Amino acid sequence: MGSTTRSPRVVIIGAGIVGANLADELTERGCTDVTVLDQGPIPVTGGSTSHAPGLVFQTNPSRTMATLAAYTARKLSGLRWRGESAYNAVGGLELATTEERLAELHRRCNLATAWGLEASVLDPEQAAALHPLLHAERILGALHLPGDGLASSVLAVEALRARAESRGARFLERVTVTGLEHDAGRVTGVRAGREVFGADVVVSAAGFWGPQIGELAGTRVPLVPLAHQYVTTSEVPALRGWTDGEGAAAGTGNTARLPILRHQGEDLYFRQIGSTLGIGSYAHRPMPARIQELPEYDAAAGAMPSKLPFTPADFEGPWAASLALLPDLSGAHVREGFNGIFSFTPDGGSLVGESPELRGFFLAEAVWVTHSAGVGRAVAELIVDGQSHTDLRELDVARFEEVQLAGDYVLETSQQAFVEVYDIKHPLEPRLSPRDLRLSPFHARQVGLGASFLESGGWERPHWFEANRALLERLPPEWVPPRREGWTARYDSPVSAAEAHATRTNVALFDLTSLRRLEVSGPGAVGLLERLTTGRVDREVGSVGYALMLTESGGIRSDVTVARLGQDVFQVGANGGIDAAYLQQAAADWNAGARGDGRGDGGGEVQVEDITDRTCCIGVWGPRARDLVQPLTQLDLSDDGLPYFRAAVASVAGIGVRMLRVSYVGELGWEIYADNDDGLALWDALWEAGRDLGVVAAGRAAFNSLRIEKGYRAWGTDVDTEHDPWAAGLGFAVRKDRSGYVGEEAVARMRAGTSAVASSGEPTGSRAGRRRALRCLTVDDAVSVVMGSDPVFVGDDPVGYTTSAAYGYTVHRPIAYAWLPESAGVGDAVQIRSFDRMVPATVTAEPLVDPEGKRLRG
Ligand code: FAD
Repeated sequence: MGSTTRSPRVVIIGAGIVGANLADELTERGCTDVTVLDQGPIPVTGGSTSHAPGLVFQTNPSRTMATLAAYTARKLSGLRWRGESAYNAVGGLELATTEERLAELHRRCNLATAWGLEASVLDPEQAAALHPLLHAERILGALHLPGDGLASSVLAVEALRARAESRGARFLERVTVTGLEHDAGRVTGVRAGREVFGADVVVSAAGFWGPQIGELAGTRVPLVPLAHQYVTTSEVPALRGWTDGEGAAAGTGNTARLPILRHQGEDLYFRQIGSTLGIGSYAHRPMPARIQELPEYDAAAGAMPSKLPFTPADFEGPWAASLALLPDLSGAHVREGFNGIFSFTPDGGSLVGESPELRGFFLAEAVWVTHSAGVGRAVAELIVDGQSHTDLRELDVARFEEVQLAGDYVLETSQQAFVEVYDIKHPLEPRLSPRDLRLSPFHARQVGLGASFLESGGWERPHWFEANRALLERLPPEWVPPRREGWTARYDSPVSAAEAHATRTNVALFDLTSLRRLEVSGPGAVGLLERLTTGRVDREVGSVGYALMLTESGGIRSDVTVARLGQDVFQVGANGGIDAAYLQQAAADWNAGARGDGRGDGGGEVQVEDITDRTCCIGVWGPRARDLVQPLTQLDLSDDGLPYFRAAVASVAGIGVRMLRVSYVGELGWEIYADNDDGLALWDALWEAGRDLGVVAAGRAAFNSLRIEKGYRAWGTDVDTEHDPWAAGLGFAVRKDRSGYVGEEAVARMRAGTSAVASSGEPTGSRAGRRRALRCLTVDDAVSVVMGSDPVFVGDDPVGYTTSAAYGYTVHRPIAYAWLPESAGVGDAVQIRSFDRMVPATVTAEPLVDPEGKRLRG
């Protein structure tokens, strides 16, 4: 929102842990007209929060999620209700009983350390010393985070409600929202039966009822309510000495003293409740729930919608696994259990942010207790300031592609997310099903070349081509990559070296179809693009520019290429659905202004069309790219005819195309765009023309290595909204001769040296305030490949973390980019921790390949 009014009327649907936190965060920011509606009684509403055992394990592959968890733990620690704290930092132990899991715990320890959390891997004796039920001989080690712990969710809701009400908010119970009011694409209120609550902003914090509320708003909410088993045991004799008072039930404060346990190998977790244990299991079949079939709330009978009857057969295996890990449980039995309902999504992530379909309607769904306060803060920032300090791309509701919003897809993949919740997942591991949802027109040819496909956003993307294996025999010895083992060898092939070599020395075809592209057209196109980007857009037809889209505080919202293909026609190369939603919303506002209703900036109207699905793209790159393409076109491809960073509408092999002379791998060549219907003919024509030259098809593994060598940032991996352009090495894209763009005031402050952007990726605040910069590292031993998201040390001090990482085929050594203290300079020695090993590396001048850009200019 952020634009129309300073103190909006906000209605929050749902008084669970998320709604209550949001009300608290909004009122803290001076937003007092806040109404929280719940269909149930508050604080035990019958939603998931009502019986959540509240384990908070902060470690997460995502920096954002770790940040949200760390904030939740911090905030709830300071929250008290009737003398009890809402958080009990008993610490967390994640246990390994296999070598593979132990290695995974080292990797998770590295993630935690990279994100600024205190973490260490303990040996079995050290772990057993922290918990009386653990036996050293039954485990191989444990990941220990002293800051993990237990949130008392219902107590927190009470405390948050009291605080928010003291600042003017109202919480109304037993009010069921039955409709949403809206006008001209903007929400105006919610309906509860006959009553209407006027609102400028409505937030659905309705937990697993989210899809129903979304339906009222015309917004698809891709989550599935699934049951998860939770039991409490009878007294465990070995715990008798470990209580310092009667253990209270989950959700009402707790007196636990022992660390929470996770036994991911068996999909189990454990918490102390006095001298008994609470045990949660994900080891059962997925049990999707239909909202219409959930129990009615009945306090007297202990019935509530989020609580289904226990199915004992599903707990037989988990109970046996619990006994195997914790043999002292044999003196106890399962006293009671239930199948509790909460939300799962296709990628396991939360759904947060403004709906692309209805302005002023926000989602805060599929949020665990673990991240609840963090999400509450982030959504409050979105509402009050128009942006969050925390990068929210991984939670953004616009991240899903159209195919990923289909009912069948959501149902299948959300159940997978449940099954895999504790699995060891390689960052490149593709889902096995559903597949083949989006195929480029060249797919059949790629299959014929033995493509090894990975999946992203429903797209099948070749990673490398087995057809190129024979090239390995001719590869110069210095180009032969070191043999990889274990984790870094997965989803990797030496064939990528041959493809990289072909690109640097000859010519290769890259399928770029999956990259997002938008057509921005109309008399308002220049005005809109100049408003949203830092580049100069109003240049001659045929110009191409690289620019940033910034947040108001100067963080990098995205990076784009903008090609002017006609007076009022631009093609924008963007980073995904979030960019598309942003541009489309901005265009709607712009057009409203153009039509004079006072909501936009004026100027002519503009259309933003996502053309990704109806077009395709081939990158033809390499020193001999011109030899391949020139014979197929009348267009003069010489440096004079079509210089670097120029575009043309042309014909290649008789096919109408758009050609952009740009290269994400740093070589001579073009991105050639065509309609899908012409795609296969275009591929065949280029392939045929390149046959005598020895053209190869190259995959994304080579592509990624080549772009990293060239120092090209990947938005989302290297940079995001938490980073400013200069720290990210992208200051060149912010033109000094431009004004009137989003983020301009922040840029002026940065240029004057009076402020830095939000946090530059600091998660926990432990080292907040330190200026950081993105630096290039090369690995000293030239063979140890790292994967990214690894902590970087100077001496014993974790000082930063890696982002993009790959083996650099051209430079014959592994490369990693890393956020480090700004003071880290070229030649400085650092160490990257990979699993349990320190890998010495050196800060190196960048880009590593062709710093003068001669190759691009052919
Ligand atoms: P809810 O608490 O479900 O609140 C949503 C509210 O919206 C409800 O009160 C509902 O009444 C209201 N509502 C819905 N529709 C309407 C309507 N039309 N009108 C008015 N009100 C409406 N998470 C952890 O982090 N750690 C754990 O250890 C953990 N363990 C769990 C164990 C179990 C057995 C279960 C079931 C969940 C567990 N979770 C855990 C997950 C966690 O409980 C949930 O993710 C979290 O509580 C969701 O909070 P919420 O506020 O979004 O949803």
